[in-house]
Amino acid sequence: MEGLNNFIEVSSTLRNSYVDDWKKQGKKIIGYTCTYAPEEIIHAAGILPYRIRGVTCTGTSNADIYMGRFNCSFCRAVLELGITGAYDFLDGFCYLNGCDHIRRVYDNWVKIVKIPFHHFLPVPHVLTEDGFRFYMEQVEGFKKHVETHFGVKITDEKLRESIRVYNESRELLEKLYDLRARENPPITGAQSLSIVAASSAMPREDFNTILTSLLKELENSEGIRNYDARLMIVGSELDQPSLIEIIEGLGGLVVTDSLCFGTRQFKGLVSGEGDPLEAIAKRYYYHNPCPRMLREYPKKLGFVRELAVKARVDGVIFEKIAFCDPHGVDNVMISKELEEQDIPTLILERDYLISDVGRFKTRVQAFLERIMGG
Ligand code: SF4
Repeated sequence: MEGLNNFIEVSSTLRNSYVDDWKKQGKKIIGYTCTYAPEEIIHAAGILPYRIRGVTCTGTSNADIYMGRFNCSFCRAVLELGITGAYDFLDGFCYLNGCDHIRRVYDNWVKIVKIPFHHFLPVPHVLTEDGFRFYMEQVEGFKKHVETHFGVKITDEKLRESIRVYNESRELLEKLYDLRARENPPITGAQSLSIVAASSAMPREDFNTILTSLLKELENSEGIRNYDARLMIVGSELDQPSLIEIIEGLGGLVVTDSLCFGTRQFKGLVSGEGDPLEAIAKRYYYHNPCPRMLREYPKKLGFVRELAVKARVDGVIFEKIAFCDPHGVDNVMISKELEEQDIPTLILERDYLISDVGRFKTRVQAFLERIMGG
């Protein structure tokens, strides 16, 4: 499956061949950190939106000078890559206040890494009409700042075209997850995560073309038969497949997720009605609530339960990076509720750079035995 290998290659590095081609054409790239970043605005400016990840990071000795070890290790990995030049291909950076940890990366990045264009786009932590009006103003401000700095005009027509391209991706990824809900899914959870991660590291038009033909292959494939349990994975920044590979190496098969490099990134279309900028802002502000959102617990629980039921999972694994408050709280609350509904759950805590593989294997193995009634 050439398309799948292409996505795995793109997602396993930072400066992939699409980025190189894009730069050779003299085009610009803006990095962003969170699923609340309105990608269509960057795309409509003729700029490549690039989701910041920690892949290729092997240690955080430089970042640890500026961020304490009680800070999220994903954030320290991202800062480390910035300090060591791995993100030198970026022409700009859009930061969002996903959490307090990622907000500190912004402060350090602006001060230490220095980048021609940087924009902080605050997102309210509550879903209210006032909150939406505030977010809409921020989105308008971001659009103006991109236009002024890069000397481009983002027209409604260009925004509508970007909405079309990104909605096409979302519909294709929905189809991919529908195939994963089959009795014999055509791909593993690790492969699926690589596809979603690749979607935000290459031009969407290329991504859509490759995924369209890959889906045709997957629809006709026999699928995976030798697995012991269907699993869902829920939690914080998981931008590379290593943890899922550990789980799938022990006989589990991850058939769905609630991850920000998964369903929380692509679910929810932008409406084609009315003002395109407002439609974009509405989709991003009101899309599946991330744990950072307060007072939205019933929606978050409903989102996880609905996906678990649809994919007919045997169990749910919650994972979080150490010191990640938003997921730390939600993981425990949702896990308790699912257990009360006889859906077995397991909560794992980790560092971004997974070191203690043995501990994970022991815990996952015991969880699989529990599911299989051992
Ligand atoms: S994993 Fe948690 S602490 Fe780290 S950036 Fe995401 S929300 Fe923040």
